[in-house]
Amino acid sequence: MRGKVYLVGAGPGDPELLTLRAYRVLQEAQVVLYDRLVSPDVLELVNPKAHRIYVGKTRGTQTQAQEKILSLLLAYARSNRQVVRLKGGDPMVYGRGAEEWAFLAQHQIEVEVVPGVSSALAAPALAGIPLTLRGVAHSFAVVSGQIAGGLYPSLERVAQAETLVILMGVERRVELAHALIRLGRKPEEPVAFVERSTTPHERIIVSTLAEVAAGGAAVEAPAVWVLGEVVAHRLPTGAKGHRAIQTLAF
Ligand code: SAH
Repeated sequence: MRGKVYLVGAGPGDPELLTLRAYRVLQEAQVVLYDRLVSPDVLELVNPKAHRIYVGKTRGTQTQAQEKILSLLLAYARSNRQVVRLKGGDPMVYGRGAEEWAFLAQHQIEVEVVPGVSSALAAPALAGIPLTLRGVAHSFAVVSGQIAGGLYPSLERVAQAETLVILMGVERRVELAHALIRLGRKPEEPVAFVERSTTPHERIIVSTLAEVAAGGAAVEAPAVWVLGEVVAHRLPTGAKGHRAIQTLAF
């Protein structure tokens, strides 16, 4: 069999939220390269004979680490392995999936993408927060809260979105909240942080933009930050429809 790379989305953590395709591909994998946000419970579903390689990045080592990942993917695919590149959420949403795909395509390696349930969608939904709601919000935007790659131009573009979802925005939340108020969002607007979605440690922190700007919201990463009127329409989430994962993933 020729080598092939599967760019697979692992979803937000709970293995029940994997796609059937992701499940099958994990069972047949020979090599799996996985990221920091992939939960241990998802890894339990990997073919026990597969070679697992942790390639999570910490800040500062990113460029070097990315080059290393590319060369590993290429080497394993060239030695005719079925390789899975496993990423949290969806591989094409802040996951560098496209860069890896382009690199492999350049080297004539076959690539199959397996979309995953992005935390941008899953975390608010599981917290009972609709991203769109008739009569309240008819659009939403997703943006990164990291400064690298030019935060402010992107933030300016989406600042007026009815519902705004920010990923990787915990650390800089105070600065981001100030910027959003400057860009015209109302200080009294309701916001929510969904921390560690689908784990037993999930927390939903509801606040206002002004309070976040004042440093009043205690939140830990990873969390999905939702801003907009929809937060005030949060639905009751008593019995979880999904199984909270067993292990602390993050
Ligand atoms: N490709 C991923 C996003 C990667 S960026 C996706 O589609 O979900 C990493 C950011 O995703 C984190 O900073 C956080 O904002 C969010 N995130 C990922 N998993 C999460 C989880 N289980 N709970 C809360 N936020 C999560």
